[in-house]
Amino acid sequence: MEIHHCVIVGSGPAGYTAAIYAARANMHPILFTGAEPGGQLMITTEVENFPGYPEGIHGPQLMDDLQKQAARFETDIRYEKITAVDFKGPIHKLWTESGEIISAHAVIISTGASAKWLGIESEKKLMNKGVSACAVCDGFFFRGKEVAIVGGGDTAAEEASYLAKLCPKVHLLVRKDSMRASKIMQERVQNTNNIEIHWNTVTEEILGENEVTGIRVKDSKTGEIKQIPVSAFFVAIGHSPNSSPFNGWLDMDDQGYIITKPGTTQTNVAGVFASGDVQDRIYRQAVTAAGTGCMAALDAERYLTNQGII
Ligand code: NDP
Repeated sequence: MEIHHCVIVGSGPAGYTAAIYAARANMHPILFTGAEPGGQLMITTEVENFPGYPEGIHGPQLMDDLQKQAARFETDIRYEKITAVDFKGPIHKLWTESGEIISAHAVIISTGASAKWLGIESEKKLMNKGVSACAVCDGFFFRGKEVAIVGGGDTAAEEASYLAKLCPKVHLLVRKDSMRASKIMQERVQNTNNIEIHWNTVTEEILGENEVTGIRVKDSKTGEIKQIPVSAFFVAIGHSPNSSPFNGWLDMDDQGYIITKPGTTQTNVAGVFASGDVQDRIYRQAVTAAGTGCMAALDAERYLTNQGII
């Protein structure tokens, strides 16, 4: 049985950056992309805050570049998902979706986070029939139509601005009387004529049988209920970490984010490191993910050296 030096799980900015560093350090990394190669940036349009791109860059282009850079140093990129692990001994085992068992001395987990849903019945019923968690992917189908988006963070603000370029009217539903989004993003939505912000607004139901025809919302201060006719409903209320394959092996917080030793990417298991959004509930930026991916590769290299493996 071949024991690999380093296996990287995940293909966002953290995973690819870990791969670039690990490959250049002669660790011959294998990288498993997971079900969504490229991660969350694949469903983003313009990224204006990744250093080095003064004019901005499209998310998918950035991920394509990172993938090519990782491949250039001979990262073994495999388009598969890791579904289970065994971190009992010093040799870590990982199961792929197709049932193959991979053994490695060091493992870097960079599995990111996934979109959250409201959890109401009609959301499930109308999923992909006008309900979507990705305005950038699906907004195009509703161009020229009136739409709604729920959330008060940077994602909701960014996606509302995106939709406002395609749709005559965008209803932004914010459950409090303030938004969590950065000041510049808040100003952008507030200064866009065709975005109407509904404060203190809770979505009770998405209306329609085979397609979205409207929403029923409630003002949580006054109790007033109203219906707004819309053709699409976008959910932008945050994310949860993709850490379930590691449940029971790694220490996690109450939301499932993997806990790392402060200032490092070291988890509670020797030789297992975590980087990117799966261990970061605070910053969650492409550049911080890339930064911790680099840290994970350096931590893994130090670990393998100390163990006399490389
Ligand atoms: P956040 O966790 O920052 O925000 C989630 C928002 O959804 C909050 O306003 C929250 O409301 C609201 N919310 C949560 N649950 C519900 C619910 N059940 N019903 C209605 N509203 C709900 O997530 P984001 O995805 O917006 O951002 C994640 C991170 O990514 C942040 O750090 C953000 O800054 C970053 N980001 C940066 C971008 C950029 O710089 N270009 C673009 C996109 C994201 P409440 O405030 O009441 O809790």
